[in-house]
Amino acid sequence: MNIILLHPDDFIAADRVRLCGRRLQHIRSVQRAAVGDVLRVGRIDGRLGDGLVAALDDTRLEMTVELTRDPPAPAPLRLLLALPRPKALRRVLQCVAAMGVKDIVLVNTWRVEKSFWSSPALAPEALRQELLLGLEQGGDSVVPTLTLEPRFKPFVEDRLPQWSAGSRRLLAHPHATASCPRGVAEAATLAVGPEGGFIQYELDALVSAGFEAVTLGARPLRVEHAVAALLGRIL
Ligand code: SAH
Repeated sequence: MNIILLHPDDFIAADRVRLCGRRLQHIRSVQRAAVGDVLRVGRIDGRLGDGLVAALDDTRLEMTVELTRDPPAPAPLRLLLALPRPKALRRVLQCVAAMGVKDIVLVNTWRVEKSFWSSPALAPEALRQELLLGLEQGGDSVVPTLTLEPRFKPFVEDRLPQWSAGSRRLLAHPHATASCPRGVAEAATLAVGPEGGFIQYELDALVSAGFEAVTLGARPLRVEHAVAALLGRIL
């Protein structure tokens, strides 16, 4: 936890917060904070700053906070991700939130297992929790927008053109011939397939929507590793 995210309910006065639960445990056992210490904090969807520990015991932590800094600039990259299995989804969401991605679409594809769409991991609160963990890692406060698109064709035909407008559209595919570009200067939209990969129809549909197929090399990586490697390369 590189930053402590403050929820609206934490504020007991304009400049004072009270925390309990997971964040209190972490601050006590990992950060080993004591009264008088200054911790990095950020208000969810707001500014960052410092929290001066004013009171701390087993049941609660109180800080006076000064929020004086803007959160880091967002990464100029949108992510279109075929819905991975729940465990990989949690990892990917934490990773991309930590890396500053602010707009994510989870889409169905032929090789996404149907049961994934009814997983408890897709409950709005569960998704948000993973994004917040990523923001805490990345020292950011701005919660990404996440949209579920359980039907590939209507999304790609009707909404994708506008959603990806004005960006360089990249489709990650191990068997592409072009290699993934480095340090892309303009805004980008990155499409990443499911564990089993995209089928030809989906590759064609994305290419028709203006995507260039690009590879990191012939070795297929796990989705969560591919996403991190692709972002590192593109950003
Ligand atoms: N068996 C599948 C691999 C799927 S890996 C196949 O051979 O196509 C899951 C997704 O991660 C892929 O659809 C792709 O978007 C991304 N990915 C994994 N390894 C990659 C690589 N070496 N280059 C580009 N994208 C990759």
